[in-house]
Amino acid sequence: MGILKYAPQALKNLFLPPVTTSYPAVPFEYPEGSRGHIEIDIDDCIGCGMCVRCCPCGTLSVDRIKGTWSIDRFDCIACGFCVEKCPKKCLHMAKGYQTPGGEKGSVTYTKSPEVLAAEEQKRQEAAAKAAAAKKAREEAAKKKAAEEAAAQAAGGAGAAAQAAGGAGAAAAGAPDAGKAAPAGGV
Ligand code: SF4
Ligand code: SF4
Repeated sequence: MGILKYAPQALKNLFLPPVTTSYPAVPFEYPEGSRGHIEIDIDDCIGCGMCVRCCPCGTLSVDRIKGTWSIDRFDCIACGFCVEKCPKKCLHMAKGYQTPGGEKGSVTYTKSPEVLAAEEQKRQEAAAKAAAAKKAREEAAKKKAAEEAAAQAAGGAGAAAQAAGGAGAAAAGAPDAGKAAPAGGV
């Protein structure tokens, strides 16, 4: 009796296409939104390290000067945090899972030489600008200090001259004050 319960489904299956596929002969169709693996548009990366800091597996590393970004794909759990956090939106989750392998190791992506050269030039320009600004600040500070010193010196000389003038006036008035009283009795 129990077999009759499944008979309708069994009959129906005879006329339906198989639910399995002929993988790997026929490539697997990944469903929309599936988490496969992380890919990077390396030339857009600014090397901020946000993805490195947010990765729960510590599988990423970045070198801003060398323009490299590395991932150990066997450590990645495809959580997608790095994709969410990247400020330049240069990371994305691509379809297709990590190919199995016998050894762990990281894959390194390097920026194109043109982008690296442009970034190096920008760094040098920024450094030159910062050095020029620093020099200008130092010179302005020196000039201000010299002006203040000159003003102080001028103020001191003026006060000395004033003091000397006062002393001269006192000396000029002294004869009247010092006159002896006339002798009395004549
Ligand atoms: S997907 Fe998750 S585990 Fe993989 S690199 Fe990004 S943050 Fe790390
Ligand atoms: S978060 Fe994005 S821009 Fe920053 S280092 Fe990672 S990949 Fe590059």
